[in-house]
Parts: sequence; structure tokens; C-alpha cells
Amino acid sequence: MKSISVVSFPSTTTKDSTCSGVEEVMSSRSGYLPNIAQNFGYYKNLAVNCLQRKDFDGARSALMNLNTSLGNEYLVNISTEQYEEAVKTQLMFQCSNCFQTESKIINEGEDDEYTKETQIPSEIPDEQVAVFDMILPLIASVVHNSKTKKVWFCPKCKNENNMASTIKFMSERQRPYFLRVVPDSPISKRGLDRAFPHKFGQWFYNFLEEITAQEVLYRKEYVSQHGEDMPTFKDTGDKA
Ligand SMILES: [Zn+2]
Repeated sequence: MKSISVVSFPSTTTKDSTCSGVEEVMSSRSGYLPNIAQNFGYYKNLAVNCLQRKDFDGARSALMNLNTSLGNEYLVNISTEQYEEAVKTQLMFQCSNCFQTESKIINEGEDDEYTKETQIPSEIPDEQVAVFDMILPLIASVVHNSKTKKVWFCPKCKNENNMASTIKFMSERQRPYFLRVVPDSPISKRGLDRAFPHKFGQWFYNFLEEITAQEVLYRKEYVSQHGEDMPTFKDTGDKA
């Protein structure tokens, strides 16, 4: 038995609007955000319900519609290539000659919240670092048993750093961060693919988090335009 996952677009008609189609809503006054609360709530429920029923095609389709209902400006991109580029961990080189300021919020959200600034050695991404072989003076070359040593020049302070003694580390992003891009949806392999539901679930919730982050931005902009938040709709199951 094949589960049916037809995704119908709910009516977008509101009390004081005569918009009747998606196109009309999307192309409303330029820059003026339409109320998407109804579509948004509808597709979010549908997506989660489909996932719970293990209707993966339906869940994917509902997420795509949820994403689209944000409009072009707030859309989350779907591209494995762009995603991998965005999450790539970055090799950092520490310069031993100059410093950068690191700001840290202490007691965040509390009455005595403050920003603490500390000086830490400059951290330079590896792609900005050019490595050179420097010819050593005779005595040094005997000591090091090598005619050259590897050095790099800091792009900030232009000073020389000895590669062998440079501290290198991988910088990691800390959650929450939002990339506005998700990888392509995982595809179930032919036959029994036991890993698929888990893989799909991870993809699904990552996508949903990204969409939700965009929704927050959308609503902020909506509030600043309209002076109030989007009215929400309770009748999300309307099949009009
Ligand atoms: Zn430097």
C-alpha cells in the first residue's frame, strides 16, 4: 500500500485581503512581507506528521513547501556542495607577533551581563598563510641538520613566524549557527536501507532548524513593517 502524500496549498485568503493565489501573495508590494503564518503552520504540522508516519517523501515535500513559503529573500538553499563548503572546519595558525581582541559575553541574559575583552594571539586561516623556505646561515643549518627552515609571514603584522614552532588548531563552529544552506536530501538505497530513517531524520531536523531561524528573521522584519506580529490561524487543516 502506498501512502498518499498530496500536498495541497491552503487558501491564503484573509479577512481584509482578496489574494487568492500563491503567485499573488509572493508578488505583493515589493519588500512588503505577506502574512505567512497560516501556510507556515500548515506545512510545519504536515512535515512533522509525515515524518512520524515514516512517510519520508511526504515529509520532504512538506519541508520544501515550508521553505518556499518564506519567499525568495528568506529561503534556505539546498546544496550539498555549498553546505560542505560552509561547515568545513578551518585550520588556523597562531601568529607569535601580534594580537587580536576576543569579546566574550559574561553572565548572558542576567542583570550583571557584561562583555569581557581579552587579547589573544592573532589567528590566521591557513588559506591566508604563504609558506616559504628560508635559507639558514651556515651554523644554524648544521644545528638543524637542514639548509632551510619553513617560515610564514603574518598577513596582519607582516612578521615572520617559524612554521615548526607555530601553534596550529582546527577552529570549530559552535551551535547555534545558521548557514542558510542544507545538503541535498538523503536518498534511500535500493532494497532495505536500515540507516535511511535515521539519516533522513537528521537531515529533516537540521533543515527544519534552518527554516525556523529564517522564520524568526522573517517575523522580525514583518513586525517592523506592520507594527505587530503575524496573526496566527488555528484552522490549519482547512482543505479549501
Ligand atoms: Zn601577526
